Amino acid sequence: MPQEPLPASPPTTPAPEPRRPEAEIIEQLGFEGMPEPLFVATPSKLASFEDCPRRYRHAYVDRPTPPKDVHWAHNSLGASVHTALRNWFGLPPGHRRPGELVRLLRATWVSEGYRNEQQERAVFAIALGWLERYVADADPHLDPIGVERTVAAKTSVLALSGRADRIDRRGDELVIVDYKTGRFGVTEDEARGSAALALYAFAAGQVFRRACHRVELHHLPTGTVVGHEHSDASLRRAVDRAEATARDIQAAERALDEGADPDIAFPTTPGTLCSYCDFRKICPDGQGAPAKQPWAAVASLVEPAQNV
Ligand code: SF4
Repeated sequence: MPQEPLPASPPTTPAPEPRRPEAEIIEQLGFEGMPEPLFVATPSKLASFEDCPRRYRHAYVDRPTPPKDVHWAHNSLGASVHTALRNWFGLPPGHRRPGELVRLLRATWVSEGYRNEQQERAVFAIALGWLERYVADADPHLDPIGVERTVAAKTSVLALSGRADRIDRRGDELVIVDYKTGRFGVTEDEARGSAALALYAFAAGQVFRRACHRVELHHLPTGTVVGHEHSDASLRRAVDRAEATARDIQAAERALDEGADPDIAFPTTPGTLCSYCDFRKICPDGQGAPAKQPWAAVASLVEPAQNV
């Protein structure tokens, strides 16, 4: 338990998985006979459309953006842990003393979404435990080439950018590291199948002009690390898929501009994720999924301890 009061967090909602800010959508004018402008994208923007086109529309097309009136505790937890690790690895190796972790975590702790202060304090203690174990197992001399580093690349279709949690240098190659704080463990299949990780690897290779094929998921709650070694061909396939998604988005946006019904141009794909969708309240198709309390995803972390 922290010895000092937890600070109030700013009134902002951290982005899911844990998170990261989106690139701005740059409007470019197209003229007849000219090639289609590049589609400005991040991996999470593309994934949003693949998950549910309507959710994408609310988040990226509708202006003003419909209000998100839920602050999820699991997003707060993910953002807090990611920021603490960013600041930890931003310290010179000689200054990374375990006692620093509680200071770093407290300094940027996000308080939103918890059931009450008791639950928040219990989760803080759990998160601190994750961090202490993680840094104890890490190479004390690790000197990442980037922490929360934005990487970008252009293709004939995409102006792609995204922020990688960490980019390590191992020998002559770079490695993409992504932190996970979810309840469920991670698998090698997830690392292999993650479009976001493959796109970060592709973009990091372009930015640093250095081979980048390995991607890793580091699951803080269990201390599990899983990875996958991409080939040039598998990275290319990830880019091809991202370009195909971008073309689908461009087609939907064009249809909207030409007067199509927004709900037809951007259809729904209801499923279990609707329970955690920021736009569930304004989406009739999402009502079939049960509404969740903002702290639902963190409650199981502390249930054994405080019976919430
Ligand atoms: S509630 Fe479900 S169907 Fe509706 S926008 Fe969200 S994810 Fe899509």
